Amino acid sequence: MPAPIYLDYAATTPVDVRVAARIAECLTSEGVFGNPASLHGFGRAARARIEQAGEAVAALIGTEPADLVWTSGATESNNLAILGVARGARERGRHIVTSRIEHKAVLDPCRQLQREGFQISYVDPDRDGLIDPAAVAAALRADTVLVSIMHANNEIGVLQDIATLGAECLARDIPLHVDAAQSVGKLPLDLRQLPVDLLSFTAHKIYGPKGIGALYVKRRRRAGLQPLLFGGGQQRGLRSGTLPVHQIAGFGAACELAAAESAAEAARIAALRDRLWTGIADLPRVRRNGHASRCVPGILNVSFPGVEGESLLAGLIELALSSSAACNSDSDEASYVLRALGCDTPTAQSSLRFSLGRFTTAAEIDIAISAVRREVLRLHAVAP
Ligand SMILES: *Cc1c(COP(=O)(O)O)cnc(C)c1O
Repeated sequence: MPAPIYLDYAATTPVDVRVAARIAECLTSEGVFGNPASLHGFGRAARARIEQAGEAVAALIGTEPADLVWTSGATESNNLAILGVARGARERGRHIVTSRIEHKAVLDPCRQLQREGFQISYVDPDRDGLIDPAAVAAALRADTVLVSIMHANNEIGVLQDIATLGAECLARDIPLHVDAAQSVGKLPLDLRQLPVDLLSFTAHKIYGPKGIGALYVKRRRRAGLQPLLFGGGQQRGLRSGTLPVHQIAGFGAACELAAAESAAEAARIAALRDRLWTGIADLPRVRRNGHASRCVPGILNVSFPGVEGESLLAGLIELALSSSAACNSDSDEASYVLRALGCDTPTAQSSLRFSLGRFTTAAEIDIAISAVRREVLRLHAVAP
């Protein structure tokens, strides 16, 4: 049997071979393996690679390398932003506003802050997954020290109105953190135009390596940020630890490719997503989850009421995809994101997330359509 078709790009992407080549240059004794903190030539060469990558990563989001902190990925960036800002501000206030549909890497640090005496307000999305900026504004209080709202949701792909949210926060001088792990490198995102104070993103969702990400911190918020890691004082003391030159070089290469190719790629991927939806939309009782136009191109979330998601997934042997967020797949709980949109538990459990990317072809989508049609019709036929 041939290898299954990969439709799980929202969980992770393969490293682009052009990125892999740049990573490989920074590993062995023939390459740029030095410690960027060293003062000799090996260190200098490593620093140059990091500066080059920093320019590419910063340019992709419209900022400067000095405003980035390298982290191990969006999970760490979210933790640094949320725990760092909140703990730094605890004498001024202990209230945070976020949403019900954030990634666990936002919700769990918020839960930790609750244990540390903070109060968290969770704003609900509407049935399409949109968060009303007015509802966020209404949740703000005199003691609110942080707002954290994601850009693109990882399960349904819905995009939030960051410009309006940012304006609301700016007017009250409350820092806004945005988890942009699913949108950076896929859609234009320009921090010269957007009033965002902190922004998390990661390389492995954009054809770079796993284990490297960044947190953008607006200059005037830097002093208020408490570090999570202490040690050698690298990165102005905000995140100690020897910089992983190969990972950062790979992240930079991935961002260069995204800058050059993402506009054309987004159009191509959106067309494939539409082809997939058109091919399955007439199946009995199917419904698409999340706003159909305010979304990233690569994610299609569909419920198949009356069909058990587990059985459907098991029957789709030629496809590799997730029933929900990859991070939740250990538990068979229904997706809290779909539940927040008003889906009942059985419907949420009947849902699949198809996510497409750089290497998805029309031929693969056609195979996926036939497989889904076959399995959904078969499961409806055997249903009690
Ligand atoms: C993948 C993802 C994360 C976690 O990123 P890692 O780099 O894997 O830690 C956080 N938030 C969102 C929205 C994601 O999609």
